[in-house]
Amino acid sequence: MTRIPPSVRITTHRIHQLRVVGLMVVIAAITAALGYQLLKSSSVSSASTVASASFSPHSSGAPHTSVAPTPSVAPSSSAPAALRPSHREHREHREHREYQGAHGAADGVVPDGVTVFDDKTPAVANLDPALLKAVRRAATGAHGTGVEFRVNSGWRSPAYQNRLLREAISRYGSEDEAARWVATATTSPHVSGDAIDVGGSDATAWLSEHGAEYGLCQIYRNEPWHYELRTKAIERGCPRMYADPTQDPRMQR
Ligand SMILES: [Zn+2]
Repeated sequence: MTRIPPSVRITTHRIHQLRVVGLMVVIAAITAALGYQLLKSSSVSSASTVASASFSPHSSGAPHTSVAPTPSVAPSSSAPAALRPSHREHREHREHREYQGAHGAADGVVPDGVTVFDDKTPAVANLDPALLKAVRRAATGAHGTGVEFRVNSGWRSPAYQNRLLREAISRYGSEDEAARWVATATTSPHVSGDAIDVGGSDATAWLSEHGAEYGLCQIYRNEPWHYELRTKAIERGCPRMYADPTQDPRMQR
């Protein structure tokens, strides 16, 4: 584990009051040096970084630009004490997000550019391992023909799912119509990690032709991007699709 030379720590401590900006540069440099391992151990810090850096089209709030994103470091036991952010700092990050009504990567919001091979984004990492394995095999097969998979949605927290449902109800004007598109937090296969929404149109076209070979099936006729694992499909082909989620017995719970 990387340690901070004592000289840096002492110097940093001395100038802390006067040169906060300098300290932030040191923290940023150390954060970069510690790299992925550190980021991996802190869903809080990576989520807040992503939340302030990028918003999905689903996000209703614009990034709050008057507050500069604070480089934050994992509060893990291996991090030097001088670099641990205060609990207060974390709380302010959290309240900031809640105030905006926004959800971050920790809730399953997918930042731009995420692929099915991304192990650090919760929307991908929290998928059912068997589904994820099948999707990665399929993405590799598609890549061989020049088709790239984009992840539009994967695992979602119940809170994020509820927000999507509320938005759908206001968009479609009724709970009945919204139910054709968005499930509840209790019934959604996204919340259980059993569904992935894939883009773009060349990827979904590829999957509709080859997905069954990997046990990947489109479930709803109105959602050509929504895929789930049906391992029997490898030998028997995919089951008949439901017209939309309201016909899916799983949605009746
Ligand atoms: Zn879906």
